[in-house]
This record gives sequence, C-alpha cells and structure tokens, in this order.
Amino acid sequence: MSIFSTDILKKTDAYVPGEQPQDKSYIKLNTNEFPFEPCDGVKAVVNGEKAADLRLYSDPTCRVLKEAIAENYGLKTENVFCGNGSDEVLALSFLAFCKKDDTVVFPDISYGFYPVFASFFGLNYREIPLETDFSINENDYYSDCGTVYIANPNAPTGLTLGTEQIENILKNNPNHVVVIDEAYCDFCDCSATGLIGKYRNLLVVRTFSKSYALAGARIGFALGDKELISDLEKAKFSFNPYNINRLSIEIGAAAMKDREYFEKTVAVIKENREKLTDDLKKLGFTVLPSGANFVFAKKDGFDGEKLYLELKENGILVRHFGKERIKDYLRITVGTKEQNAALINTLGRILK
Ligand SMILES: *Cc1c(COP(=O)(O)O)cnc(C)c1O
Repeated sequence: MSIFSTDILKKTDAYVPGEQPQDKSYIKLNTNEFPFEPCDGVKAVVNGEKAADLRLYSDPTCRVLKEAIAENYGLKTENVFCGNGSDEVLALSFLAFCKKDDTVVFPDISYGFYPVFASFFGLNYREIPLETDFSINENDYYSDCGTVYIANPNAPTGLTLGTEQIENILKNNPNHVVVIDEAYCDFCDCSATGLIGKYRNLLVVRTFSKSYALAGARIGFALGDKELISDLEKAKFSFNPYNINRLSIEIGAAAMKDREYFEKTVAVIKENREKLTDDLKKLGFTVLPSGANFVFAKKDGFDGEKLYLELKENGILVRHFGKERIKDYLRITVGTKEQNAALINTLGRILK
C-alpha cells in the first residue's frame, strides 16, 4: 500500500472475482455467465453504426433502457434505477441507505461483495449464520437495525426464500431498506417484484449479466418505490452521472424487449440444470436444490479444493470457496448440454 492510502482502504479486503482467463481455452463454469450468445437485437446495436455517436456523452437518465425495463415489469420509469452492473447498484444502495449508527445485516454465506462494500463504506455489519441446511431463517432478520441484504436465490447455495418470508422481513424492518438481490431470479419463480407498491422499504436489484448473456456489457438495475429510486439517482448524480455507456443503454433495451429469445434460452438452462443435478447425483454428489443457473455440490470424502484444481488441470473452471462451512463444495455454472457433459465425464474420470 502507498503511504497515501486511507485507513479504510488499508482495512478493506477487496472483492476477489472469479478467474477470468483471457485465452478462452477453458470450459468456463465458474462465474455464472450465460452460455448462449446475446439476442440478435443486441448484436444489431453492436454491429450498427453507433461508433460515431461515442463522441457524445451517454444519456444520464438512461431513458430507453428504463422504459424497456418498466414496460416488462408493469412499472413506471420512476420505479427503475439503472447502474453499471448490479454491483454498482448495490454500492450506491450502501451509500444511499446505510447509516453510520446502523448495523447492516446479511447472511454469513452469501454474495461476497456485501461485506466488502460494508467495510469500504465504513459501516457496522453483522453476518447472520445460515441454518445448518444452508437455509435462511427469516426470524433472524427481524431486528430492524439496519439495511438488510438478501440474495434470492442465494449465492453460492442456490437456495430460494419464499415471497411470504420476504414479506415478513419487510414488515419487521419498517425503518430500514430491505434489498433483495435477484441476480438469479430469472431461473426460478421467487421474485419479490410483485411486492413493489406495497412496501416502500423494498428494493429489488437485478442484472443483465446472468440471464441476458450480457455480463460484459455491465448493466444492472433496481426496482422499487419512487422515493428509493430518486435517492439512488441522487447518489448516482453525486458520483458518476454517465454511469452506463451509450452502447450498453441500447444493448440492455434491446435484450429486455426480446422476450421470446429470453424465455427460450432461460428454459434451456433450467432444463440443463435438472439434468446436471441428476448426473452429479449419479456420481454420488450431494446437490442443493437450485433456483439459479448454477448448482452447489459436494462429494463426501473428496476435498473441494482438490476437485476444483483437478478440473482446472483438465480444462474446466468451476468456483471453489475457502470458507470453512462450504470448503467441500463446488459451485458449478449450468452450461450448454455439451459443456455439462464434458464436466460430468471429466469428474467421472477424476473420481476413479
Ligand atoms: C453476479 C452477481 C451480482 C453482480 O452482477 P453484475 O450485474 O454483473 O455486477 C450481484 N449479486 C449477485 C448475488 C451475483 O451473483
């Protein structure tokens, strides 16, 4: 660290993203990207003649993107906030809603960025242990002591929390925002978006990275009460008004509008997920029921890290986390049928 760095920077352990090899030689099942290409509308934007327009700033209101999102969810644009990936949306939510004397809460096993943001923004936080079966006990989140962050489906477990449980958490935190991070929600039927309008403390965070095949375009959004959204806008205009580039605004709008392609491809991933789960079970793995585009699995008697390393040696990347409670598990992104078959074949060989 330089002698100029702040205490907060010194004390923060930065987020460590999954490996992103740039040589494309791996079967990449480690960061929950979509294995299919983006829809034709997206390609038309990229291949169109927009390069000349890049001399101009992007629209700081992200109007066309907001309109496409609002229409899809039956909401108004005043209920939609857009960010440079949902990571930025989450960061701005910490800045906008987490107060110094509060204690931010989230599960001990969840998205690794929550404790990083809390630390980086100098906030108190408490990690609430998941139950032994990795489920979230809603009763643990009734303290109303600060902003609540819950990923639903949770990552890396893939387990989902019912809308009723989320509603109970909303009711029991009337003085704080409850952020439901629905990065994987398109792969199940657990969305809290139906509760917008009923609870002014609900913020749903979404992304184009997983289900729209647009991880590299960096587009995320939040849905919620118009007052929460205008707070996020104020935070963004105090930080980076042109947060989404011109191409990504149009790319996101095109992807959101093509419902047919979205539904068709997401259905394939769900189907592949069930097959992958069955095949892993046949190899003797314990697989948690997943509502996401990944599965969380372990095999008794086998070290998670060793399996991860052996798969890597064989050209297949999955994600392993060193945390004590989950160190025997692998988080495996659901890929194409061919990718999943390659994984199963390779695992079969390694296990022998
Ligand atoms: C992938 C992921 C994100 C971040 O997504 P981006 O939109 O690519 O920044 C946020 N939350 C969870 C739980 C995720 O898994």
